[in-house]
Amino acid sequence: MEALHSRPLTTPDEESTPVADPRDVLIIGSGPAGHTAALYTARANLHPLVLEGEPSSTSDQPGGQLMLTTDVENYPGFVDGVQGPELMTIFKEQASRFGAEYLTVKATNVDFSTRPFAVRADDNEYEARAIIVATGARSLMLGLESERRLLGYGLSTCATCDGFFHRGEQIAVVGGGDSALEEAIFLTRFAEKVTVVHRRDELRASKIMQDRAFANDKIEFRWNSVVDEVLGDGKVTGVRLRDVHTDGLSELAVTGVFVAIGHAPNTDLFRGHLDMDENGYILTRDGTRTNVEGVFAAGDVQDHVYRQAITAAGSGCMAAIDAERWLESQPRTPANW
Ligand code: NAP
Repeated sequence: MEALHSRPLTTPDEESTPVADPRDVLIIGSGPAGHTAALYTARANLHPLVLEGEPSSTSDQPGGQLMLTTDVENYPGFVDGVQGPELMTIFKEQASRFGAEYLTVKATNVDFSTRPFAVRADDNEYEARAIIVATGARSLMLGLESERRLLGYGLSTCATCDGFFHRGEQIAVVGGGDSALEEAIFLTRFAEKVTVVHRRDELRASKIMQDRAFANDKIEFRWNSVVDEVLGDGKVTGVRLRDVHTDGLSELAVTGVFVAIGHAPNTDLFRGHLDMDENGYILTRDGTRTNVEGVFAAGDVQDHVYRQAITAAGSGCMAAIDAERWLESQPRTPANW
């Protein structure tokens, strides 16, 4: 279905500021959480509008982290697996079939102090009685061109998702925190050897994770080393490492590289509007409720533990049901409509 365009309404004294119709539900973000929230709210007759974001430096289409993956084999319902971008297209088509509308714009400003709520994107203002925030999170990356090129072709940010593809292989994990060691330990189920590449000679990870990693015969460490280049033409064949003290270069032959240097939720837009934890993840309670009544958050933007497409989709469903029930409980007054 073609993306529908907003119907700008202009007030006589504000000719230049088009304002879209107030909606029951506006969803910000179009990963598994946003699409699932759109599907459920559309089927509840709430006519959701999804601000799906814009192409980014890492993807030419909106749709979250799955747009950066290739094979997805752990999303239930796909016996032979599915490509990440294809899965997102299916999600969108399914929600669109029930009337969810999508705009390829990026929200740039929110006002949760007014009723209805106001969200600005692309010089338009959109109003809604309830908002579902599903802007996701992003894996922090090394910033190498070769890393971007080989993402999904042996380079991954998710061992749970992609470890299975590396049975009997040699793998590198980059990072020295709990994520890196957790991924390394998990990957030893499949790999012949896992080399943890860390830029210092001391791990940031918790003691218990360090003990587990040091006790694992399949895990080796390359200390004081950073990835200078990911090697491979079409698929990963190795990494070139640089010793941070000597600047000496060496090559490590691996067929998988897992970048595990942390994650960041996409929540800059909501700073000062929604309560967050110290890492910027939106705090939710009683399901998907935020500190602002009528604003709900779903998916990786509020989950730093599971970070899976299926858990994000599940919480998108929860947010849709929470929003629907909350709207049902609200009187329709001129102030909120
Ligand atoms: P983190 O604790 O911030 O660790 C990131 C690691 O990546 C650090 O070792 C850091 O090196 C390294 N790093 C950062 N940027 C880098 C770069 N550009 N190049 C090379 N290395 C780089 O992130 P995390 O491991 O994702 O953990 C985040 C939070 O989640 C932590 O509080 C952690 O305890 C928690 N967590 C817990 C568990 C668990 O309990 N099972 C599992 C995962 C995460 P430096 O050390 O030199 O800074």
